[in-house]
Amino acid sequence: MIIIMERNATKVNIEKVLDLLKDNGFKVRCTEGEIHTVIDAIGDKTTVSPGRIAALEGVKEVKIIREPYRLASRDSQSEDTVITFANGVKIGGNNKPVAMVGPCSIEDYDGLLKVAIAAKEMGCQFLRGGAFKPRTSPYDFQGFGEQALKYLKKAGETTGLLTVSEVMDASDLDMMCDYVDVLQIGARNVQNFKLLQAVGRCSRPVILKRGLASTIREFLLAAEHIMYQGNKNVILCERGIRSFDNAYTRNVMDIASIPIIKKYSHLPVIVDPSHGTGQRYLIEPMAKAGLVVGADGVMIEVHNDPEKALSDGKQSLPIPMFKDVMKRLNQFRDRLHYEKQCLSANVK
Ligand code: PEP
Ligand code: MN
Repeated sequence: MIIIMERNATKVNIEKVLDLLKDNGFKVRCTEGEIHTVIDAIGDKTTVSPGRIAALEGVKEVKIIREPYRLASRDSQSEDTVITFANGVKIGGNNKPVAMVGPCSIEDYDGLLKVAIAAKEMGCQFLRGGAFKPRTSPYDFQGFGEQALKYLKKAGETTGLLTVSEVMDASDLDMMCDYVDVLQIGARNVQNFKLLQAVGRCSRPVILKRGLASTIREFLLAAEHIMYQGNKNVILCERGIRSFDNAYTRNVMDIASIPIIKKYSHLPVIVDPSHGTGQRYLIEPMAKAGLVVGADGVMIEVHNDPEKALSDGKQSLPIPMFKDVMKRLNQFRDRLHYEKQCLSANVK
């Protein structure tokens, strides 16, 4: 880290910073500028955190050089993480982007099965659906719980799709692992550290959604919490963030976050234009945008009767529209994939 001292920092202030660093094994170099003294410190930040240095008298600013997440960082693993499922489906690396589709909430088996059949027909790999819904209002539909997971598992087995559902409470984890192939941590729980730690001790891959107000660094640190407990199979999901303009969209989809995360982390990243925009007509263009910038998959909400959906009907694609969109997305994905392969063959 680099420590910049205040212009009026005293010799005693500077010595105190240097002593703390040296006592904790840091290599330090102190440069006295005309106005500020600057200290370069190289060492293990778990022994003295940047925050502890920043609290010392006379310290103006502490800048970190190495990203604070370690396991999630490209510095610790240069190759992309590839997650392989029992049926051979792979996410990440040079694999073709996958599609995870399904209703926001699982409401009944017949409706879910209709969506699952359409998803399978369109070449999707995952069936997603909520059983425990994190709703802003306690008066809104909260999900059908374990019964919904039973439907999900059955529809997954019937169609051969892998299943994804959100976990809200660590005490549900064992039960959920009986039903789903992938656990989802929703945007609202991205900093529920106990829950992150609990899924970190679990054997199922985890889709971690970006929080409504998470910076990219905070998002990667949330992934780090999961990985630190041993579960390295984390899939990051860009699902839009809050900003000032909500006149036309529900959230602001941060498309740049995808190549940024790819630069700093080896973890797979998927894009969720349904929550990212909240608008049906924006799903196709924003899914394509995500694929162009390197997303390893798309997550799209689909409902057999969106007008009657108990949550997120407005952004859910009805099945016929989903099939049209998915057909074009598949063509688009295949063309992009082919071009990428040609490009890397030429580079080699
Ligand atoms: C969802 O996937 O249905 C969901 C609630 O997503 P998010 O956590 O991104 O709002
Ligand atoms: Mn939803």
